Amino acid sequence: MKSFIKFFIEVFKSIYLLSLFNSGYSQESDFYSMENINFNSFEDRPIIKNIVENKTVRIIYLVPSDSIEKTDYTRGLQNTARHIQIWYYQQLGKTFALHDPIVEVYKTPHEGTWYSTNSNGNLFGQFWNNILVDGFALTGAQFNDPNSIFAFYIDAHPICGQCGGCGTSGVLAIGANDLRGIADQSWVTICPGETYEFKPCRFVGGLGHELGHAFGLPHPSGCESSDVDCDYSSIMWTGFYDYPNCYFSQTEKQSLLKNPFIQYDISDTDELFNCDKLLDNVTASIDNLRTDQNQIVFNYPNPFANSTTFYLNIQSKVRVSLAVYDLLGRKRVSLLDDELLAGKYSIPWDSGDLGVNIYIYKYCIGNKTVSKLAVKTR
Ligand SMILES: [Zn+2]
Repeated sequence: MKSFIKFFIEVFKSIYLLSLFNSGYSQESDFYSMENINFNSFEDRPIIKNIVENKTVRIIYLVPSDSIEKTDYTRGLQNTARHIQIWYYQQLGKTFALHDPIVEVYKTPHEGTWYSTNSNGNLFGQFWNNILVDGFALTGAQFNDPNSIFAFYIDAHPICGQCGGCGTSGVLAIGANDLRGIADQSWVTICPGETYEFKPCRFVGGLGHELGHAFGLPHPSGCESSDVDCDYSSIMWTGFYDYPNCYFSQTEKQSLLKNPFIQYDISDTDELFNCDKLLDNVTASIDNLRTDQNQIVFNYPNPFANSTTFYLNIQSKVRVSLAVYDLLGRKRVSLLDDELLAGKYSIPWDSGDLGVNIYIYKYCIGNKTVSKLAVKTR
């Protein structure tokens, strides 16, 4: 990581000098010295590495041709993904990055019953196989994709004996009962006699479990062959039923931390919100978590596509400025320069025609100046 950072500093310096030479920048321009940016702090925030490698978890909500998108499912999925992302962070000290937007909705060419009934492999795998036929075609997904983990949710049910939630090799697929559960709706009976009642948290755990498989984790040793010496509280076995009161074992942690997708730092928002109410607005949840922190500034989402919002939590009346710079140190937009009273502020930023790039936002609160990164991905 150190040499990586040094490389970046060298590149920045040469770009800096080159641009001074070519464009005739004067000292009075908006240029501010790259020396002001604390590069050491990047070591604690491996977000650059993550962005460079562009590795993300994509949550795909598949809507069969005889269904319509249910906004509760979309919103619930978004919060489910955020929740499990934070939980992974709490377990591992690092986590996976999510796509922007977090949930991508696709209408499929087949009706809901096609996925369970179209002949395609053995009974157990048929629902999974059919979901992937459409899911791969619609999104360009593949097994072991170098850039993305694909999590397919479909608003269709398996029939009894089919896998309604499976994951392996960078891909997972989950049926409609989990979508219903995330939205706090009752379980639809698949096999005779089922009378399940679950809280939404169980379905966050379900995503965590299948993501674990997609990241390459098996069930804990001993669990499939016998009940002896099996780790029931691992999220990779029965622990997901009691999510978030479950964990990864040491072995599972060691395996996940070697995974190139688990390199993301979300320390700005590392507290879990209530998974019993996944339909609450996630921005409000993030906001509520941060009331005890001093003068916090962060942007969300980050990375972002076109727009992002800066959140400020100001504890007492103070002068605040916030501006966005490009990597050449040129100020691209000034978002704020004002005296603020104590309170929470959100400042939306539409990046307009600025190109895909890493940007630096610099804020001054009183006499304290901090620089952070904001990444525009398309
Ligand atoms: Zn499993």
